[in-house]
Amino acid sequence: MLAGGLAVRGTTPRAGGTEEAPKEESTAAPAKDRQKVTETEKGREKKQEREDGRGKDEKGNDGKPDPDSIPASGPGTFATAGGGGDRVGGSGRTLTYVVQVEDGIGIPAPDVAAEVERILADERGWTADGKVGFGRVSGGASDFRVRLATAGTVDDICGRYGLDTGGEVNCNVGQDVMVNLKRWLLATRYYADDVASYRALIVNHEVGHFLGHGHEGCPGAGRPAPVMMQQIKGLHGCRTNVWPYDAEGRPLTGPAVG
Ligand SMILES: [Zn+2]
Repeated sequence: MLAGGLAVRGTTPRAGGTEEAPKEESTAAPAKDRQKVTETEKGREKKQEREDGRGKDEKGNDGKPDPDSIPASGPGTFATAGGGGDRVGGSGRTLTYVVQVEDGIGIPAPDVAAEVERILADERGWTADGKVGFGRVSGGASDFRVRLATAGTVDDICGRYGLDTGGEVNCNVGQDVMVNLKRWLLATRYYADDVASYRALIVNHEVGHFLGHGHEGCPGAGRPAPVMMQQIKGLHGCRTNVWPYDAEGRPLTGPAVG
């Protein structure tokens, strides 16, 4: 997820990184080591959630599903959303994508496609650079795929590239943006009350990796957290933000990490 600009992924399998771990061309520590940290951080968050009762709240009356009702694994086959979206974005290259939902999880692919389209079309999204464009297609060759899947299937697919998503997090590997169903439905503690925003963070962060962006840190207390920051691990004084640009088109970035 570092470097590479808009270059299309080659045929060589490449790990684009999980929410927690930069992909292989990073100059940081070996991915495996970072993922161990990731697991630890993630475990800590889960523990905190239990301790402060967040987990219980998420089962409450806030409209979110009971975490225990979310399937942990699925068949590994996908339904592709039909139709297609209008091209959105700048005058440069249009990246095409499909939206797929794992079979059997009870979420219609068109619903997910509509949400992803809205996120990628937002004026604060990656298209704010005036260059990149996106266009959803319903099949055939595409530049990337946004795939909503059970934790087990996300782990399987990300694991083929050597990434450990631990049943909890998302990843970008090759042309696939793998979205963990649990994160899609429950978000994380920072976004527990605003799942829609967290979905934007998932899509923007992982598509950001696909576009070649690496992880960034918090640029200063009270500043918006960069979308490429690993916000699931803590905000470090920044405030929540799920967009790569502000409404005036200014990039919301932070110092490179790793
Ligand atoms: Zn990441």
